Amino acid sequence: MKKLLLLSVLLSVAYLGNAQFTPCLYDFGLEQLEQQFTGYQERSQQAIKKAVQQYRQRRGPNDEVFLIPVVVHVVWKEEAENISDERIAAQVRVLNESFRRQNADTVNTRPEFLAVAGDARVEFELVDVIRVPTDTTFKPEVSLFGGSTLPDHVKQSALGGSDAADPVNHLNIWVCALQPISILGTESPILGYAYPPAGLDNWPAETPIPELALEGVVVDYRTVGDNETYEVPQVGELPMLGRTMVHEVGHYLGLRHTSGDGALAALGVPDCEADDGVADTPNQGTQSQFNCDFMQNTCTDESDDLPDMVENYMDYSREDCQNSFTQGQIEIMRAVLTGPRAELPVLNISSSEEAFASRAIQIYPNPSSGRFRIQPSEPGRSVHYQYTVCDFLGRTVVPLSEGGQPLQLDLSAQPNGVYYLRFKEKESEQWLSQQLLKQ
Ligand SMILES: [Zn+2]
Repeated sequence: MKKLLLLSVLLSVAYLGNAQFTPCLYDFGLEQLEQQFTGYQERSQQAIKKAVQQYRQRRGPNDEVFLIPVVVHVVWKEEAENISDERIAAQVRVLNESFRRQNADTVNTRPEFLAVAGDARVEFELVDVIRVPTDTTFKPEVSLFGGSTLPDHVKQSALGGSDAADPVNHLNIWVCALQPISILGTESPILGYAYPPAGLDNWPAETPIPELALEGVVVDYRTVGDNETYEVPQVGELPMLGRTMVHEVGHYLGLRHTSGDGALAALGVPDCEADDGVADTPNQGTQSQFNCDFMQNTCTDESDDLPDMVENYMDYSREDCQNSFTQGQIEIMRAVLTGPRAELPVLNISSSEEAFASRAIQIYPNPSSGRFRIQPSEPGRSVHYQYTVCDFLGRTVVPLSEGGQPLQLDLSAQPNGVYYLRFKEKESEQWLSQQLLKQ
């Protein structure tokens, strides 16, 4: 195990020495935790697997919407790092759109991935922004023999950062200026990092475990928002659309990189044996290098060969290329939210949301053989809606659309079953959902 880890570090160093871009320190974070708490990686993976098994055996509906309360810590030194409330709000909106598959660019998902791309039914609510001026810098260190040290002092007030706010019940997100890693004279910018769940019930009693207060997501301030750019040396100007945080929250909810992070992949050599533990992401040998190459196919499988899914948030493709999680990834995240992070979501909003929605609109007929007519409950009220429809697996069947009332929906071409209409009035921030039954 140690040998493998050392190899991984050496290869990563060689990789960075080649001036390639390793923007996310998830792997280095795992390695740091492994050094502090022997067996961490294995136990974390076991806990996630067990959670998935239990999730599959759950009785009752598995389609409730999880709402995660979010606390953002802005730990700043220069004025530019003290990002505006507007950028934070835009970032939370991107999280919500991405985890509900309501981002406008889902239309760019290639047809071969439409069947697996889905709505995670996870939402985020910003409950607090904590701003802390600091004199401290936040620089990850990677050493050849001592492993990696990530700048977790951003999570500790006594060390120039900001203490986590109740990490059992909140997703804590720290925004700061992450300094690049320097290795052999090459500087590689860092966009963010996160740790997989540490609340592992398979941890032997009396074993030291990682501090809960260090859980959460750290991102560079330049990545936060929905329309920023980041000039990366030797790579160029990259669009920052808020998807760095989507990627890091994916790690926080148990996801790994789509390439499976094989040791060879760190050298830029495809490692098709490494797996991300997700059945419906295509086998991918290396991470994309912030490109958007739809021809990229690093592993050729004998049957059912699909290109690399550069649309996936857990790749390193350019952010304007990313638009999807797969059903397999969604299952892991939802299993983590009912297992190791079960105390995080506070509210199953589907029932209250639907009750509210049923007061706001009328649907005729419902059930229907395919055609539904939707109008505001309040007579004479003129409303312009934004809406989308997904099936019971969260697959989008009507992409994000707009229309005045009455709204006519035609699901005649879809199989019989339960569908979810998600809608909001155009001026409103509040999305509502209502069940449609086609029979
Ligand atoms: Zn990552």
